[in-house]
This record gives sequence, C-alpha cells and structure tokens, in this order.
Amino acid sequence: MIKARLKSPWVLHYNCGSCNGCDIEILATLAPRFDAERFGIVNIGDPKQADVLVVTGPANRRNARVLKNLYDQMPDTKVVIVVGSCGATGGIFHNCPNVLGGVDKVIPVDVYVPGCAARPEQIIDGFVMALQKLGEKSRGAKDEKGV
Ligand code: SF4
Repeated sequence: MIKARLKSPWVLHYNCGSCNGCDIEILATLAPRFDAERFGIVNIGDPKQADVLVVTGPANRRNARVLKNLYDQMPDTKVVIVVGSCGATGGIFHNCPNVLGGVDKVIPVDVYVPGCAARPEQIIDGFVMALQKLGEKSRGAKDEKGV
C-alpha cells in the first residue's frame, strides 16, 4: 500500500487566495509539457482520496476554515506542499488586514517550493521531496502500529 501511494500519489490543489501565478505553473507542471503525470502524480478533486495537498497563496481569515477542513478530510498519512512565497510567508499580501501569514499558521507544512512564481522544475523537485516525506511518515506510522 505504501509503495503504491509513493509510486502514484494523488494530489489535491487548493488556491488559498494567490494571484494565480503559481497556480498556472502548477497546471503547467501537470500538463503535457512538464508532464508530472509520467511520475504517477495525479491531480484529483477529492480530499478524502488525496495523499498530497498543494497550496498556493497566503492563509487569511476567510480561507483558514476551508483550508483546515480540506486538510482534516485527507486520510492519514498525508503531506503538504506550499508553492510560492505567498504561501510561505504571506508574500506580497503580507500585512494586508485579513492576512494571517503563511499556510503554516493554519496547517502543518512539509515542503516549501520557493519563488514568485515558482517554476515547474522547482515544483517537480518539491513533489520529489514530498514523496520522501510521505514515505518516512508512512513507515513511521507502520512502525508505531507494529505492523
Ligand atoms: S508567490 Fe508570486 S506568483 Fe505565486 S501566488 Fe504569490 S504573488 Fe502570485
């Protein structure tokens, strides 16, 4: 089961209020030019079946509840990738009245992909790091259960 998830992770993409720049790069990453699907990475719309949550944009008062809700619906074990500087720190939205800051103000983050906007090559690197984390977490969970 662990191997299957690592070979074909299912990804949920959530725009937390970004300018859409990083989202377009994520779509380019998954589309035929950069073709992340060749590594088995599949974009889906159902949090209950997702292994990886990819978030762009800052956490704010309006989206924090939705972000937490999506994260909580994902089954354990899961990893979170933040793409772009807005999701890491608030970025260009830092100090806006409704902005809380980076995504880690609301949910735990495993991997940060820097950039404004992040490039598809960097996003693919982020997926590779996230899969390593997912493997470590899955093995840890298995050891805890003693299976
Ligand atoms: S990091 Fe830059 S490109 Fe990405 S969402 Fe923020 S402002 Fe837009």
